[in-house]
This record gives sequence, C-alpha cells and structure tokens, in this order.
Amino acid sequence: METYGKRDSMTPNMNYSRLKDSYLFYNIAQKTKTYLAEHPGTHLYRMGIGDVSLPLCRTVIDALHHAVNDQAVQESFHGYMPECGAPELRTTIAAYYARRGVQLAPEDVFVSSGASDELGDILDILGRDQRVLIMEPAYPAYVDANIIAGNEIIHAASSREDGFLALPDPSVHADIIYICSPNNPTGAVFSRAHLRAWVDYANKTDAIILFDAAYEAFIEDAEIPHSIFEIEGAKTCAIEICSLSKTAGFTGTRFGYTVIPQELMRGGLALNAMWVRNRTTKTNGVSYILQKGAAAVFTEEGQNEIHENIRVYKKNAAHLMAALDTLGIWYCGGKNAPYIWMQCPKNMGSWAFFDYLLHEIQVIGTPGEGFGSAGEGYFRFSTFGSPEDTEEAARRLVALLGK
Ligand SMILES: *Cc1c(COP(=O)(O)O)cnc(C)c1O
Repeated sequence: METYGKRDSMTPNMNYSRLKDSYLFYNIAQKTKTYLAEHPGTHLYRMGIGDVSLPLCRTVIDALHHAVNDQAVQESFHGYMPECGAPELRTTIAAYYARRGVQLAPEDVFVSSGASDELGDILDILGRDQRVLIMEPAYPAYVDANIIAGNEIIHAASSREDGFLALPDPSVHADIIYICSPNNPTGAVFSRAHLRAWVDYANKTDAIILFDAAYEAFIEDAEIPHSIFEIEGAKTCAIEICSLSKTAGFTGTRFGYTVIPQELMRGGLALNAMWVRNRTTKTNGVSYILQKGAAAVFTEEGQNEIHENIRVYKKNAAHLMAALDTLGIWYCGGKNAPYIWMQCPKNMGSWAFFDYLLHEIQVIGTPGEGFGSAGEGYFRFSTFGSPEDTEEAARRLVALLGK
C-alpha cells in the first residue's frame, strides 16, 4: 500500500466551536414546560414567537395550485429554473421598487429561498477576516453567521437614549454593517436622515451595508424608507435582503429576494456578477411552483390580501401599545413593525420579568437579553399571535402592572 507523508488529521471549520449555545428559545420552552407541568391545563398567552399565525392568502394559494397543475402536463412542465430567478418575476420585483421611486434593473434582483439563507450565504462574496458591525440588540443569526465565517464582530450597542437606533461612530472602522429596519427585536425604524448617515459613512469608508428589509411591509409612516435604495448613494454601498416570510406569511413556504445593484463594486469586481457566479455554482434556483406563488403576492389582489393580514397584526399591536401607554411604560416599535420592545418595570431583569409574567398572568414574551447584552432590562412582544389572546394579554398586563 502506498504511504503518504505524515499529516495532521482533517480539521473541520473550528469557528463552530466559538459559537455560543443559543439558550434563548430553549430556556423559554423549558420554563414554559415546567410551568405547565405544575399547572396542568392552564391556557398560556403566547406572544414570544416571531412567526406568523395567519394562513397564506387566497390569491397565493390559487397561484400555487395552478403551478402544481402546470407541472403535471407536458406543455406547461418546467424543469430547472434560471438560478437567479425567472426573468418575469425579477421584473415584477423591480417594478415593486419602482412604485417607491427606486429604479432597479431586473438583473439587480435575485430570487431566493428566504432572507436567513442569504444573510449568511452573502458572506461568500465578501472577503475573509472582515470586521463586521452588528447593532445590538440584534437578530441572533447575524452574529452566528459571522462567527462561522471567522469574521471579527464589533458589537455596537444601542439604547433607550438613541431610541435603539445607533448612528455611525467615525472612529470605528467596519467592512460590513448589518442594518435591520423595521428592526427585530426592537421594532424601531430608521428615518431617512439616519439611513443617509449610514450610507454616507459606508461610501466614505468603503464598507458594505447588508440591509435586512424583512419587515418593510409593516411600515405605515410615509416618511420612513422601505428600502435602503431610497437613499441617494446606496447603490454603491448596499445589498438589500428581503423576504415574504413575515409580509406574506411565507415562513413555512419559503421565498425571498436580494438586491445587488450592478453599480456596486469593490476591489475592481462587481458584486452582482460575483453573486450570479455564486448562485449558478451553489444553487439550482427556487422552484417554479414557489416563484408562481410569490409572483401572486405582487399582484393588486395579492397586495390587498396580504395587507388585510398585516392589519390583523397591527390591531394586536394597538392593544398592547394602548396597555403600555395606560401604564406609562416606555417602549418602541409596534407602529411600523410587528414587535413591541418595552422596558421592564421596577428595574427588573429580562428573565425575572419573563418569570413574573408567566407566573402571575400566564403571558409569554421574549427576554431582551436573548438578543445581546444591550437588550438586558427589556422585553419583546410579538404581535403575530391570536387577536383574542393578545387582547386578553393586554388586559392582564394593565391589571398586573397597574396595581
Ligand atoms: C424573520 C426574519 C427574517 C426572515 O427570514 P426568512 O429566512 O426569510 O424566513 C429575516 N430577518 C429578520 C430580522 C427576521 O426577523
């Protein structure tokens, strides 16, 4: 047998050993389980989870059924789809942006299986050993994807003082900046002036902004940008990652889109062309059926129907906001986002407040500390739950905390 030179054994990506276990949702599940074991049959008011509860709208369901039937017939059968998305759908999504005055070429738009995939995968086209600025409290996947990629993370804390909207610090250099607006977990939204400050900073320092617009459809204030590309200069520094998960109930169906303007260059390379190469190498695209279902979201009927669902979640938000207003408790979010981020009363810690609400009024939320240390002392309510439960939870909050 041929022998090879002595060599250390294969090493996996050791960055995985640097990941911290995510205790957040595990802890919530354990505490809930223990409570139910001690109080069998108790109804819990669940407002912790960031997942939608309403089904897909009629127009989307019809389009999905129709597309399934297409696949049964020789004449309308589709095999592999173009890796970056069907040209008609890329055109439709570009037209969705044009309604807000953002001019995109269809080729700037890539269809995807969801935002989470893209938020991590996009790091493939950004070099190694990057310095990544993450505003905290933050969506936990930003941190973990960058630990796995071996990047250096700068944790930029925001607070009640800045309304949980950090501004750039000129003394801090970052290569990649994550911005999520409307924000998960805080529900805070970046104004035009705020986003302009970040775009100017990124253009000046050659950084790339990864803009997570998963909640854009929840914006109701006319002055709040839905897209980073509403800001002048963004096409030379930003990538936008979007999803139909929360806006159209696609969390279990899966569909998203990513915008990389052809103008975006770094190191003499066009990031759009690099992403085309990445997708054509690493994926074979999103299924014909899902692309048909997604296209239905962008029709007039589809838009009306998804906004009917969003209005249900907004009514939930209104009940919770009214309760916190009555109690005089500080919070942000709720108006342009499906999350409400409240300060825990009486200087309680996030987990202490979680236990207090569970034991006293059987209401479940998410402790702010789970989104980074900047979230300690805060608590997140999701407005995606059932209207009856949300209304009752709001009543119980007033009764408990107004004592
Ligand atoms: C839910 C969510 C997404 C959407 O992720 P999908 O993979 O498209 O379901 C993206 N970003 C944030 C901040 C979210 O909360």
